[in-house]
Amino acid sequence: MQENPVSMTAVQYDLADLLQRAHAKIRGRNRADCPRCGGRQTVSFTEELFCCHHAGCDFKGNRFTLARDLGLAQRPSRAEARALHLERERAEAAAQAFLVLVRRARFGLDGLHIELLNLRDEAHERLEVNHDDEVAWEALAYTYSELPRIRAEPALLGEGRFEDRQAWLEAGEERRHEMTDRILRVDGVPAFDGKWVDVK
Ligand SMILES: [Zn+2]
Repeated sequence: MQENPVSMTAVQYDLADLLQRAHAKIRGRNRADCPRCGGRQTVSFTEELFCCHHAGCDFKGNRFTLARDLGLAQRPSRAEARALHLERERAEAAAQAFLVLVRRARFGLDGLHIELLNLRDEAHERLEVNHDDEVAWEALAYTYSELPRIRAEPALLGEGRFEDRQAWLEAGEERRHEMTDRILRVDGVPAFDGKWVDVK
């Protein structure tokens, strides 16, 4: 058995046109005579819906059902409905997987942020005791170069454009460094909603 796909014709006709094809005589902007019960001006319609108000008459529906009843549009076939359903499921699964990746990355960054703050505090303490502690100076320099990065990445992952987040997640260490360098150079990231997120 061969079934036709959902026809775009249903979308192309306006409801007044479809009602006329169904032999309802249009009376003004939103009234028509009913082709089923013969009521005069008993059908009212909007852009999408129509309904006959005559008692006991069941002439009512919407643009799509009327187009279908007139043979202008058909329901999706079982195979198509299934394909659409699978497509939707795949899209949802992809979105879920993406969210998991983002959360995992952010969680990792939070941990790193805390480690860097600890390292910085310890370096300060050691330098108070011994101002010439080279290791502490190096640790301090390291934390001050890394901490802005730690702030840049959550801004990107939390609020950045979808394509930038994906690029970051797929990037290797070096490319991520380049991306955070760029964020720090311009002090922010373009956000997913077209706004700008400051990173200082
Ligand atoms: Zn009617």
